[in-house]
Amino acid sequence: MRYVVFIIFLTSYVFASYKLSDFDKYQNQKTQSALEERIKSFIKKDEAVESYYSFVDNQLHIYDAEFKLEYNLKLFAEAMSLAEEIQPPFKQKIKIALDPGHFGGKYSKQEERHFLQLPVEVNNYKKLLVKEGDINFYTAINLKKKLEAIGVEVLLTRGAIAQSSFGLSYEQWFKFKRTDYFREALSIYPEGKEKEIERKRLENLTIKNAFSDFVRADLYERVKKINAFKPDLAISIHFNSCGVKRRDGYYIPSKDNFTMAFVPGALEGEYFKYKNYRYHFLRMLLTDHIDRSIPVAKYLVEEFNKNLNIEIVDPEKHIAPYIKNYSIYHSPGVYSRGLMMTREIQAPSILGEPSCADNAEEAMELEHSHVSETSPRIEAVSTSYFNAIVRGFEL
Ligand SMILES: [Zn+2]
Repeated sequence: MRYVVFIIFLTSYVFASYKLSDFDKYQNQKTQSALEERIKSFIKKDEAVESYYSFVDNQLHIYDAEFKLEYNLKLFAEAMSLAEEIQPPFKQKIKIALDPGHFGGKYSKQEERHFLQLPVEVNNYKKLLVKEGDINFYTAINLKKKLEAIGVEVLLTRGAIAQSSFGLSYEQWFKFKRTDYFREALSIYPEGKEKEIERKRLENLTIKNAFSDFVRADLYERVKKINAFKPDLAISIHFNSCGVKRRDGYYIPSKDNFTMAFVPGALEGEYFKYKNYRYHFLRMLLTDHIDRSIPVAKYLVEEFNKNLNIEIVDPEKHIAPYIKNYSIYHSPGVYSRGLMMTREIQAPSILGEPSCADNAEEAMELEHSHVSETSPRIEAVSTSYFNAIVRGFEL
């Protein structure tokens, strides 16, 4: 046990720094018109974003939480070829990070990714139990094998069902890692009242009420692992919930079953007071991470639609308010959205939502006791990801 503790302290946090000077290499490289187009079509979800940047004398100014000049990027006067910017580099070995969402297993109910449906009577099933963390994990290990078989290097962000990306239980995290998380969580706040309120909240956490912070700390850890791996693409593997969540965390079955995928972008101005948002605004603006995410996401939605026989989400018809409220449309089923895993990963990234796991027929296919990494539904989802990667990278 003492040895384990020692290892835990050795591998303590490398803080995310969010230094805007990371983008100095883009000085004098971009034109104002190209950047304005990217802000409009990929990144700016609402008008409030405009308070944090402006174009002045052929420079891009970024403003901090107090609207003071924080960073200045000099722009290039003449148009550059966009095609030249998004040419894929020649690579001998493609690296893909796979992130099976949530924990699953014994944590499923606590993390509210536990779809129990009552009353449901389809083919004599009276109740159906689907643990999203489990089916995400099965999909990831199935896909990992397929990718490695064709020479792709793969990182998994967690190693088992009911395991966090720290490899620690909730209780172990609370004991050994939470103060590191406090420092990191606070580092994005501007000095002031809100930071002090959050500091007090964090300091007063107990094992009884820190689970949602454990979930957040685990997401940061996943991001760190993925960024250290430097993948060509990161994929967060999820299943959607499309019905109404009851107070007890269970879902009333959804009549809908639809497919979709998210890529980076669609940042909301209200969060730009936090430094990480300004950092990732610049990253999405200046790198080709979004450009490289969209084509693979398009293939992925096509593959889900075909292999699972599930229709592509239609916001006019399906109940998916987050599309209008938080997303930017690119093509059928493909949207930018500023989720943690599409915002913080410093690489092209996709978050897949192949189906609604709380739809009764879909839950029949996914029902926990019948699911393994080789069950037909998991195989079809994994094949869809695999085909989209093969098409996207021309493997
Ligand atoms: Zn999920």
